[in-house]
Amino acid sequence: VGGMNGSVVLVTGAGSGIGRAAAELFAGRGARVVAADRSGSAAETADAIADAGGRAIAVQADVSVESDVERMVAAAVSTYGTLDAAFNNAGIAPPVGPFEQLSTASWELSSSVNLRGVWLCMKHELAVMVRQGHGAIVNTSSVAGLVGNAGGAAYSAVKHGVIGLTRSAAAEHGRHGIRVNAIAPGLTRTGMLRQLEELDENLDADVVASQTPLGRVATPQEIAEAAYWLASPRASFVTGHVLAVDGGETCV
Ligand code: NAD
Repeated sequence: VGGMNGSVVLVTGAGSGIGRAAAELFAGRGARVVAADRSGSAAETADAIADAGGRAIAVQADVSVESDVERMVAAAVSTYGTLDAAFNNAGIAPPVGPFEQLSTASWELSSSVNLRGVWLCMKHELAVMVRQGHGAIVNTSSVAGLVGNAGGAAYSAVKHGVIGLTRSAAAEHGRHGIRVNAIAPGLTRTGMLRQLEELDENLDADVVASQTPLGRVATPQEIAEAAYWLASPRASFVTGHVLAVDGGETCV
């Protein structure tokens, strides 16, 4: 009871990191997964799921492009006949640097994927979910969506924005049997984190994480567990919530 066996779940950013871990977790618990990514790596995730005996299709789609998002959601419905849950997780590393040197191009890039992308996915997922009268959406924000991020203002702003989208959709569509929540991961060992460490030679995530209550970075699987719970019927009375999965980083 309360699991996701047989449910159809769309995961964006499923080619790497948290999205890949989530796609594998959902599939491992019996869900039929639509693994979407801008890169071709979604196919690797779908293959790994199939090799492990699970069910998945791969869709190559850029979440910042509306026609791609429409095609992605349509693929879920045409393949599996429904869309029970969506994990809107695709995101890109923040442009780092002093606030006053942030370029318009960096701002646009960060918001096009991390905010417009989440909005576009929600828009087309909700259209299906309202029609069918049920659904659960989980969006990936960040601890940077809960507190400010020195050197990462654009990222922090758009991750705060993801929470606004989450709460607004939850308020609007609860009556349609749709729950909408967000997770706010702390530092998580993924390709994005490696990229950030390469961009900023002073950043060592393990050192930063050692200052937090649990004293370490997360694994992608630990973040995926939270997304799974919020998407599943076990969280049936939870909506409009933001779940920090951050090893206590924002509790102090
Ligand atoms: P990752 O780079 O390992 O994976 C992100 C995936 O998203 C990649 O496969 C990439 O190809 C895909 N993607 C990027 N832009 C896309 C687009 N326009 N359309 C479709 N797919 C796209 O990173 P990750 O750490 O797993 O990040 C997943 C999410 O978690 C992001 O939203 C990120 O902001 C958030 N997050 C990560 C951390 C962390 O420390 N890693 C912390 C907080 C929040």
